[in-house]
Amino acid sequence: MAIAARTPFPFTAIVGQAEMKQALLLAAVEPRLGGVMVFGDRGTGKSTAVRALAGLLPPMKVVPGCRYKCAPDDRSPCIEGCRERAGKHVEESAVPFVDLPLGATEDRVVGSLDLERALATGEKRFEP
Ligand SMILES: [Zn+2]
Repeated sequence: MAIAARTPFPFTAIVGQAEMKQALLLAAVEPRLGGVMVFGDRGTGKSTAVRALAGLLPPMKVVPGCRYKCAPDDRSPCIEGCRERAGKHVEESAVPFVDLPLGATEDRVVGSLDLERALATGEKRFEP
């Protein structure tokens, strides 16, 4: 039987890697930990474990239509205009799995000036 490509490998089926699995589970239940940095040799199941954990997490509440999946109670500014729409409607979304390339710079992670808009119109706008 073939498993659909979007079905993550079951977290509980990962053999070994006890410390990594424990760290991921702790990060899932305690946001104050701030995250987990997983590193290791190629093929040791790092991405598989994180994808599997993301598949276990309950859906998160987001502002409908926001491509950045803003939380309805988040008051920080969003380019999608979420603050105006927040509170009126809420939808659920699966927890995303974000795979950052090695050497990802801060501007690629959190955003930067929208250069295309700045060059085209002269308007300074943040691109998350
Ligand atoms: Zn948003």
